Amino acid sequence: MPIKFVTDDGLYCPRIYCDVCGLEIDDCQKGNVCHPGTDPVFVHKGDCDRSQPRDKQYPWVELRHFMVYLGNNVGFKGKVARQAWEDARDMAGL
Ligand SMILES: [Zn+2]
Repeated sequence: MPIKFVTDDGLYCPRIYCDVCGLEIDDCQKGNVCHPGTDPVFVHKGDCDRSQPRDKQYPWVELRHFMVYLGNNVGFKGKVARQAWEDARDMAGL
């Protein structure tokens, strides 16, 4: 499972892990999301990404764009996003 909660200084923090190498993807600009079917496959750009097939049956998006699309599809935008960011910042000290 590429999305996990890990504890960091007593806080539960959601993190994304590469489905190929198993290491954390900690920069949205350094990951891609492949979707051969309905389940997303998270990979680091570079060797991990190149290990995945590339054709019309195996589309992909950059992780940073995937996050925007995901947020948009659950209504995480505009005022809701700004308020959530402020709430999370206050709770977790972001
Ligand atoms: Zn990787």
